[in-house]
Amino acid sequence: MTPYLQRPLELGADIVVHSATKYLGGHSDLVAGLAVTNNKEIAERLAFTQNAVGAVLGPFDSFLLIRGIKTLGVRLDRHTENADRIARYLEQHEAVKHVYYPGLPNAQGYEINKKQAKNGGAMISFELYEGYDIKKFFKGLKLISLAESLGGVESLVCHPATMTHASIPKEIREKVGITDGLIRLSVGIEKVDDIILDLNAGINAAKA
Ligand SMILES: *Cc1c(COP(=O)(O)O)cnc(C)c1O
Repeated sequence: MTPYLQRPLELGADIVVHSATKYLGGHSDLVAGLAVTNNKEIAERLAFTQNAVGAVLGPFDSFLLIRGIKTLGVRLDRHTENADRIARYLEQHEAVKHVYYPGLPNAQGYEINKKQAKNGGAMISFELYEGYDIKKFFKGLKLISLAESLGGVESLVCHPATMTHASIPKEIREKVGITDGLIRLSVGIEKVDDIILDLNAGINAAKA
């Protein structure tokens, strides 16, 4: 979400933990994180711990992060505009069984997301109907890369069951909705028609 789309301290959180590796950096070229608080006592404890464990970001990564944050607003406007279009495209597609995107009015959590954030962000998950070959879907993509990361300017897809969440036992995965057919899409800032064409090519490949 980033502070551009959601401000948890204003919603009552004591500490906000950001992965700056994702949208704050925004270009898939650095690993960084931050903990933010508006409580002086917590801040002192955090600073003490950071100093003690030596979690310090290097100068070049700091430079990249500062540089990335300068375009956070314009990037996220485009990311989320694209994501909204793509979620609607997927939702009406005959091959798509379910779309998980909190910006869709009939999504679970839509109301709470609307209350707490500016929009639904740019992460979408979806499932294809049985009979579609998910491996062929990934192979059919040309523009969107298969990768674990998210939040960069380029669109990325991943297969959580065999990638990010492969270490979780299958029965627990299934219980929380990370099925073998689940596809996760980090929507980039490319021209949205190009992303949709690519998804369409993937789905057509999966059908064959
Ligand atoms: C998210 C991510 C990490 C971990 O970064 P955190 O800031 O700890 O979340 C590392 N590598 C890749 C490729 C990632 O996408």
